[in-house]
Amino acid sequence: MPASGRVCRFISISTLALLGCASVLAQRTQLRPGWNLFSPQQDMQVGKQAATDAERKLPMCNSRKADAYLTQLGKRLTDHLNTNGVPYPWEFHCVNDRSINAFALPGGYVFVNRGAIEAADNEAELAAVMAHELSHVALRHGTNQATKAQAAQAGVGIFGAIFGGSTGGALLTQLGSFTAGGVLLKYSRSAETQADVMGTQVLYDSGYDPRAMSQFFEKLEQETKGKNPPEFFSDHPSPDHRVERVNEEIDKLGGIPANARRDSADFESVKREVMKLPVLKKGVPRADAAGGGSAGGPPQVPSDKTVDYEGSGMSLKYPDNWKQFGSDENGAAFGPEGGLVNDGSGHTALAYGVTIGSVMGQGTNGNELGSATQGLISELQKSNPNMKITREAQSVKLNDKPALSTYLVNDSPGGGKETDWIVTVARPDGMMYFVCTSPQGEFETYRKACGAVLDSVRFH
Ligand SMILES: [Zn+2]
Repeated sequence: MPASGRVCRFISISTLALLGCASVLAQRTQLRPGWNLFSPQQDMQVGKQAATDAERKLPMCNSRKADAYLTQLGKRLTDHLNTNGVPYPWEFHCVNDRSINAFALPGGYVFVNRGAIEAADNEAELAAVMAHELSHVALRHGTNQATKAQAAQAGVGIFGAIFGGSTGGALLTQLGSFTAGGVLLKYSRSAETQADVMGTQVLYDSGYDPRAMSQFFEKLEQETKGKNPPEFFSDHPSPDHRVERVNEEIDKLGGIPANARRDSADFESVKREVMKLPVLKKGVPRADAAGGGSAGGPPQVPSDKTVDYEGSGMSLKYPDNWKQFGSDENGAAFGPEGGLVNDGSGHTALAYGVTIGSVMGQGTNGNELGSATQGLISELQKSNPNMKITREAQSVKLNDKPALSTYLVNDSPGGGKETDWIVTVARPDGMMYFVCTSPQGEFETYRKACGAVLDSVRFH
């Protein structure tokens, strides 16, 4: 027994000895999530949206064996991860991309590229990458970054802060887009050190050789010196003294365990499996992700049948063949399958459907509605320079509340022009807006569908 065992025998004798015991045992570095305006529940919400988007856009391995293996390995690690009691849903997916990368979205949605599996020489190395990612989730680094971005943009709702920082996100909606969520995935060097340290603890506690944490990343850096660094390092900048810091933590944990696990037959078998997968060219979108006007023809005509949506302080009905692309307390978007298209600059834009958002603190009563609507439109025009008003604001009613209806023309993300019909309504916390979007040629169809959505709105 090490010294700590002796100290512990005094537990029953005095409180002082108990404290002594605790401090001897608790030598490992204690890490806690930083400042965060989001709740862990919001981490899960935002992460789930972005994960759904990632699954649509990324080429997935579609290998049950690989996904099951990652899930099993991930579970072994999360069993030893301190989440401060938050029950993250943990999902693990294999991505058919040969670049060496892995990422974890807030709330526990983990994506591992086949390239990372192929680059790992043993299971401990793959476990190290995953333990590092899981630590970013537990330490809530993604929404901590978003919190800082939010602080820098006072007045913009949480939604805006994450998804682009401007209400321009309404049309070029970046709802739940994992690429636009860059703020969620780009970590600081200090966050990297934290993820290394916590990841080392997780490896140790799960019975893996904890040295794999620094070894794998060092190996990647060495092997790719002078060449393009692995993608992993663009989101996870290498912290200073990585090896030293990991070794220091291993010492604190009591040294390298004698029977540390390095490899498994499962790992070797899954590695062979992913190496056999067809190699997909990077950046080729899956057919359904391209969707909409740019490929595969226009989406299905909106259905007359509806489903209910319950938002914050309001409810509405939308066509039952539309999908909900995301939502939070400040907004949501709905549209047909294929309604989200890539605008060619890496942003996902809603080409067909309805976007709902709010401008907090403005347009809180009918008198302010006109100026708040003008402000919203100027804001949208900043990110959509070809957007022009085609019909000036007219007074309408939305669920018996005074509202304004404005029509605009804009470039459609799928090519050609689109019509945007914006309806704004004063709410006590801030003006709420509904944007109905479709390519010009199909607007009559969508005007009807959007009109039905607007008629169904109930504030409560
Ligand atoms: Zn990292």
